Amino acid sequence: MPEPLIHFIIPFFLLSMSGLSVKKATLFSTLAILPDLDVLFHIHRSFSHSIIFILLISALAAIVIKKFYKEKFHDSIVATLVILSHPFMDAFTGYTPVFWPLFNKSILIIAELTTNINDVLDLNLNLDIYFKPVIFYKTTNIDTPIFSSTGVAISLVLLAGLALKYYSIKHYSFKPPSFRP
Ligand SMILES: [Zn+2]
Repeated sequence: MPEPLIHFIIPFFLLSMSGLSVKKATLFSTLAILPDLDVLFHIHRSFSHSIIFILLISALAAIVIKKFYKEKFHDSIVATLVILSHPFMDAFTGYTPVFWPLFNKSILIIAELTTNINDVLDLNLNLDIYFKPVIFYKTTNIDTPIFSSTGVAISLVLLAGLALKYYSIKHYSFKPPSFRP
């Protein structure tokens, strides 16, 4: 699975680039880690990774927010999209029950292109979707990284991109794109 650091840093980068404050981007991006809290119950990739489950909980939260905190309604939409990014990314790295309970199979998407060092034109495209029955079981021995070297490298590059953005705003009058007329 992508590690928690990757789940956090990608929405953090996108939200920051979209113009959200660091504080708000941090708050939203922390939500992207929530589905992996199932490890606290010794279950790996549980129903917390189901798009259906996430949409259901988010819809209930959005209804309450719209009623009592109307000005925060758009935040609830952004929060939902951020959380949904988690099972989406997980499905590319391991079996994930994205459509449980409507579809009782975990999904693994493979999208790879490899080449041969002796013949770079010897390309091998591997696009496939694998299924296996959803079984939520407790396990007591999962070694799972909170961050890895690859994750740290990607995070540092993305943070450098954000630093460049703030530098450009300060020194080149760079204005982030605005979607409002
Ligand atoms: Zn996960």
